[in-house]
Amino acid sequence: MSRTLANIFDIQRFSIHDGQGIRTTVFFKGCSLNCQWCQNPESKAPKSQLYFDQAKCQDCKSCIGSCPSGAISNGAGKSDVDFNMCNDCGQCVESCPNLAFELLGKSYTEDELLDSCLKDQSFYESSGGGVTLSGGEAVLQSEFLQGFLPKLKEAGVHILLETAGNYPFRLLSPLLPYISHIYIDMKFYSEDKHLKYTGSSNQLILENLGKLVEMDFPLTVRVPGINGINTDIDENEKIASHLNSLGISEVELLKYNSLWESKISRIDTAQKQLNISNNEDYLHELKKCYSKYDIRA
Ligand code: SF4
Ligand code: SF4
Repeated sequence: MSRTLANIFDIQRFSIHDGQGIRTTVFFKGCSLNCQWCQNPESKAPKSQLYFDQAKCQDCKSCIGSCPSGAISNGAGKSDVDFNMCNDCGQCVESCPNLAFELLGKSYTEDELLDSCLKDQSFYESSGGGVTLSGGEAVLQSEFLQGFLPKLKEAGVHILLETAGNYPFRLLSPLLPYISHIYIDMKFYSEDKHLKYTGSSNQLILENLGKLVEMDFPLTVRVPGINGINTDIDENEKIASHLNSLGISEVELLKYNSLWESKISRIDTAQKQLNISNNEDYLHELKKCYSKYDIRA
């Protein structure tokens, strides 16, 4: 039996937006991209980390003495955390009666995660749903998944992977026999833009997408529309042309959501407010752009 543990920062039940039917979405910690607009900035670091919601603080001061690093201060009627001094030890979590502190990232054994996922098996069966692996980037925890996914599949659960695709293919290939469908993101075709906005080249993503297409693996390409960053026709023509050359005839255009901006003051993150508009006027033009390449968007 594998002794590898997974680090998971959230398990969302009764999800209806992460694949067919009613699903349990498991969010794995750690990512190999650093997208400036990441919806889950708490997913990027592979280790567990403190989340502090100052709005919940009622100024009882119980937390002050709990921190061995002196990272918690109190003033102006609220406690505050200096994330530069915090080492994510989690000792403050139990101190607050108002649950202002949370340690994001919990270790799971294969069997613990299996038990958690199978709690909702009757809903998967009645709705045609299953389990969605998300993150962060679940594939970075490939060693754990190589032990876990055979057990989940053996239990008859439909498994879907949401991935950014940025890793060596050898991490993904041992997982493929257990996965029924992959959602893969295509944020840019231009390597320079990908590097600028995500901190990484997109060469591995393009290679991995090509390999999955060659294998005829069931997949859905998703293009997250980040208004003013990747919503111009020129960039989408390049994406559409590439997908067309691979024989892909459908993409999902994802709408931008700025809710992540409320999280960045609550965690230790380098992600900065972007103030991107939620305006979706570009969607109509993008649909026309993809249809020119025989791709339904
Ligand atoms: S324990 Fe919670 S409510 Fe009390 S001061 Fe600390 S953060 Fe505020
Ligand atoms: S998690 Fe951070 S703030 Fe909380 S007790 Fe540990 S060092 Fe202090």
